[in-house]
Amino acid sequence: MTARILIAEDHPHSLELMRYLLQAHGYTVLTAVDGELALTLARHERPDLIVCDLQMPKMNGYEVAFQIKRDERLCHIPLIAVTAFSMIGDREKVLASGFDGYFSKPIEVERFVAELEQYLPPSLRAQSRGDARSGGETWP
Ligand code: MN
Repeated sequence: MTARILIAEDHPHSLELMRYLLQAHGYTVLTAVDGELALTLARHERPDLIVCDLQMPKMNGYEVAFQIKRDERLCHIPLIAVTAFSMIGDREKVLASGFDGYFSKPIEVERFVAELEQYLPPSLRAQSRGDARSGGETWP
C-alpha cells in the first residue's frame, strides 16, 4: 500500500507539479489551496505525509504546523515545508516551528519524490522502485 500524501500549496503550478510527480509514482494525493483547508483535510483524512507551503491564504504554514503538532492524532505525521524562501536561517526557523523537513522551491523534478520518500516508512513507499530493483536482480 502506498502513502496518501496531502499537499498544501496555493501556487497552482507548484501544486500541479508536485501532484503530478507523486501520482506518477503511484501515490494518492490530496490537495489544499490554503492553510485552513489543509488543516481540515489533515483532521478528516489523516494522510501519511503532509507537504506544506509556508505562505498561504487564511492560515500560513507555520500556523498549520503549530496546529498539527499540538494535535495528538496528527502530530506523528511527517510534515515537510516547501517554500520559496531561501534566506539564511530560514531552514532553522522552519524546523524549530515543528516541521520535520524542508524543501526549497523551485521543486527539483529529479529528486523531489525520492527525497520525500525518506520521510515515509518503507512499507508506504511506492512499489515501483522496489519492483525495478528486484526485477533487475532476478532477470536472467
Ligand atoms: Mn504560497
